Amino acid sequence: MKIHEYQAKELLGRYGVPVPGGTVVATAEETRKAAESYGVCVVKAQVHSGGRGKAGGVKLARSPEEAEAVARAMLGMKLVTKQTGPAGKLVRKLLVTEAVEVKKEYYLSITGDNERAGLVIVASADGGTEIEETAREHPERIVQIPVSAVAGFKTYEGVRAAKALGLEGENQKELMGMLAAMTKLYLEKDCSLVEINPLVLTGEGRLLCLDAKVNFDDNALYRHPELEELRDIDEEDPKEYRASRYDLSYVSLDGNIGCLVNGAGLAMATMDIIKNFGGSPANFLDVGGSATAAKVKAAFEILLSDANVQAIFINIFGGIMKCDIIAEGVVTAVREIAPRVPIVVRLEGTNADRGKRILDESGMAIISASDMADGARKAVEAARAHAAETAKAEDQAAADSAAGPERR
Ligand code: ADP
Ligand code: MG
Repeated sequence: MKIHEYQAKELLGRYGVPVPGGTVVATAEETRKAAESYGVCVVKAQVHSGGRGKAGGVKLARSPEEAEAVARAMLGMKLVTKQTGPAGKLVRKLLVTEAVEVKKEYYLSITGDNERAGLVIVASADGGTEIEETAREHPERIVQIPVSAVAGFKTYEGVRAAKALGLEGENQKELMGMLAAMTKLYLEKDCSLVEINPLVLTGEGRLLCLDAKVNFDDNALYRHPELEELRDIDEEDPKEYRASRYDLSYVSLDGNIGCLVNGAGLAMATMDIIKNFGGSPANFLDVGGSATAAKVKAAFEILLSDANVQAIFINIFGGIMKCDIIAEGVVTAVREIAPRVPIVVRLEGTNADRGKRILDESGMAIISASDMADGARKAVEAARAHAAETAKAEDQAAADSAAGPERR
């Protein structure tokens, strides 16, 4: 789960990391008011994405009037950054914050280190908006310092980080405090990333967090009900959000064949075989080993809410989950939802015969497949045929309306 910059700073602030003052606003008037208390300020788009500075989502304003004008331009715009994709992200909220005199920008983060089963501090003296370029062109300027997830942050690790950043004396102490706080936050809240970029040396020679990103591990969210209020559904893919409510592992993709599969391995194999037959999957979806009829129905609805979907391929291996139960779930869902696209089903494993019989006897237009390859081939063909049919119907409708209403 991702959160906004202002929320990440609030959290870091609570753990003892120095952050500049700021106010979250949603209108141009509120921006002007907030700016009055800062004099010169920086107006920052609050979207779940980095790279805002380069995309015009971070602007300096020298007066409340200028801040208001900046807000008018920024609110409601689709901010397209390197991380958002071409569709961009709608700006609904802004952070109005003190303009800070910056002497130097650093990069500092803590993230997981799978190989060592621990954490790692990532630090660079070349922080700021060019960090990706630094990572590509001068990876040696980015230092990694392993930290034990059990013992937590240790002073000598902080000394190494300070050396890497060229910080001494008071600044070294400040850095230690920040790293201790970041590690504590990371471990206590089950984060997957705590990042400060830029960490800056101010005109007064103090270290300050000017931008922050905190991501949480979705698999541990159940341990932190308090984090739920930080969630901003507007920033999430609505299909992925719904799937998470039903405990479905779902990732939205840009193809046209919806996949409903049990087991992550089978889900990946299904995507591969669809590609192999010249098709393109619209999603990754693992309904899990304990899919109920309600879950199957929710999965169906999520797949069908994707306008790109031209066919659905249900590929189930019944192990713990029995094929006849799945078949009943599919029949119920199809009966209730009346899907607008063809459905191909392949059932294998426990009670597969019973499952197939249920599908055959339901009298519904379900295309039955004998094996995985047969199912993938049929799904690709069905999607193609359905797309062609839809296009033809749309052409006909356009021709009808061009001919004028009197003809109809
Ligand atoms: P992003 O990482 O999304 O581009 P940042 O918050 O890091 O957004 O802002 C980009 C750059 O803008 C920073 O590297 C910094 O140079 C400048 N900046 C951001 N906030 C402030 C501020 N409060 N005062 C002065 N400069 C700022
Ligand atoms: Mg930044």
